[in-house]
Amino acid sequence: MSTIQNPDLRRALADRVRYYNELGIYDFYYRVPQVTGTAAASDLDSTHGHQEKMPAKKLATIAESAAQDILEIVPPKPEQGVSDPTAALRLIREDLGDCTRCKLHRQGRKQIVFGVGNPHADLMFVGEGPGADEDAQGEPFVGRAGQLLNNMIKAMGLHRKEVYIANVVKCRPPGNRTPERDECDTCSPFLMRQIAVIKPKVIVALGAVSAKNLLAINAPMSELRGRFYDFMPSGARSSDPSWHGAKLAVTYHPAFLLRDPRQKGESWKDLQMVMKYLGLKPPQKSE
Ligand code: URA
Repeated sequence: MSTIQNPDLRRALADRVRYYNELGIYDFYYRVPQVTGTAAASDLDSTHGHQEKMPAKKLATIAESAAQDILEIVPPKPEQGVSDPTAALRLIREDLGDCTRCKLHRQGRKQIVFGVGNPHADLMFVGEGPGADEDAQGEPFVGRAGQLLNNMIKAMGLHRKEVYIANVVKCRPPGNRTPERDECDTCSPFLMRQIAVIKPKVIVALGAVSAKNLLAINAPMSELRGRFYDFMPSGARSSDPSWHGAKLAVTYHPAFLLRDPRQKGESWKDLQMVMKYLGLKPPQKSE
């Protein structure tokens, strides 16, 4: 039985959950309250109008029951239980709709650029956001940076249609500016859901914006590159216990490599690390 007996409170909780669902967020976590010392406990108790101290264990039990209540209220993600990733991606795209969740929708975007490629891909590339060409064509990485990315993929012994390519934000930032924090935060639940459906073995974050958003680390590229991270998109753990997440590697954004081609060798090192993990061989000269 629900621990939230108050119908107003329960309705307020349901409204809040619905609001998050609208934003594409279906996964909720609870943090067991850390009660240190009596001040914190009496602060909490004072809301009940008495000074009795509530033990941390009791607070934790209340938090756990509240989490259980939220679980009863939260509807499943549209793609939950859909085992075909093509169908699941279609449901995520439908959920995104004609998105107006952040200000990018009224800053000149022509269309939403969702993602492209193999829904069963072992390898996924994540860029920053669509540029002018991508905005015009509705597909990520189709401009000059995209041509270089295609060459990088070929050099790994793969073809563009064998991998999956997406961006942190799905609408073009005006003038190709860097997507802002609120735009990334609003859009990334959809990227997380795409990743959770595709379940790649490896994700390559292209550039610092992608890396920092996926890893939630604020560090320079020099520190982010050169190693694998264990990556699990939020929510995937509970929805698919058979997938243990992806390895995530960080490399330079192709647009940066076009500006500074001397760094291509460094990027190739990153891709070779990925190739080794996936057992890929560079194509023979004649291929
Ligand atoms: N740059 C990106 O980050 N993504 C694209 O889709 C194109 C250029």
